[in-house]
Amino acid sequence: MTGGTDIAVVERAAELWQHVEGVRRAGGSVGLVPTMGYLHEGHQSLVACSAADNDVTVVSIFVNPLQFAEGEDYGTYPRDLDRDRELCAAAGADLVFAPSTEEMYPQAPITSVVVQGLNSILEGRYRPTHFDGVTTVVAKLFSMLGPGRAYFGEKDYQQLAIVRRMTADLSLPVEVVGCPTLRAPDGLALSSRNVYLTPEERPAATVLWRSLQAGRDVVTAGSRDPDEVEAAMAAVVAAEPLATADYTAVVDATTLARPEVLAGELRLLVAARLGRARLIDNLGVDGDPA
Ligand code: AMP
Repeated sequence: MTGGTDIAVVERAAELWQHVEGVRRAGGSVGLVPTMGYLHEGHQSLVACSAADNDVTVVSIFVNPLQFAEGEDYGTYPRDLDRDRELCAAAGADLVFAPSTEEMYPQAPITSVVVQGLNSILEGRYRPTHFDGVTTVVAKLFSMLGPGRAYFGEKDYQQLAIVRRMTADLSLPVEVVGCPTLRAPDGLALSSRNVYLTPEERPAATVLWRSLQAGRDVVTAGSRDPDEVEAAMAAVVAAEPLATADYTAVVDATTLARPEVLAGELRLLVAARLGRARLIDNLGVDGDPA
């Protein structure tokens, strides 16, 4: 264990288990907040949620190589463990689990968790191996800690849906809790990757939020046509010279399938690139407004 005045950081899975074993044996509840570090208030809100629900809250910090493809930002992903541990402590966490890559993957894994279908749409079309890396590491974290609850942000909406489905399909004894997206005052969703934005790109990055709002407006005005909604969203991104859309989409909020006629709980999703940054965002909208 790395000692610290603020909060303990454990690097070994065996040590992690020891830390929570006593709590669990005494009937206490354990919450997990999986992250890749470089924390912000969005992560802290998940920690606060877990701290309110559980006797012990563990934040895992691990930049998972399995979920990055060749040419993505694995090597340059921002890292700052000292700052992260302070932010964890301030938000009410009890322990940080920050394993090395060797601790997580002592041998190259030949087993992976694959949530078929959901892993290849939307983000999966642009990052074909990404979600298999996510589900595999989340399953490992669940095994290493044995949390009763795990907290994920709606910010990564497809990830949340996929983790829920994995947990249900494998009967994992974990309650998956989804938490709302925290935003900057101008609407930009907080993200560790926002550090990639130049001062010029930063105001332009509100284009994702503006695109989502435009899509929502089309639905609330009564449109039931997904093409119309997606076109309105795409037009907003196209009008921003510093941004290029990967996709704009409206899907069923639970299945992530694209309905032919919009109805029920919907989710609007957008992914766009601005310079070095590739950002995603999403918004819930009622397809059956009163
Ligand atoms: P990451 O470190 O990017 O893997 O994110 C760790 C967790 O924090 C994921 O469950 C994210 O969905 C969640 N998260 C990231 N950004 C936000 C945000 N702005 N608001 C709420 N949760 C977030």
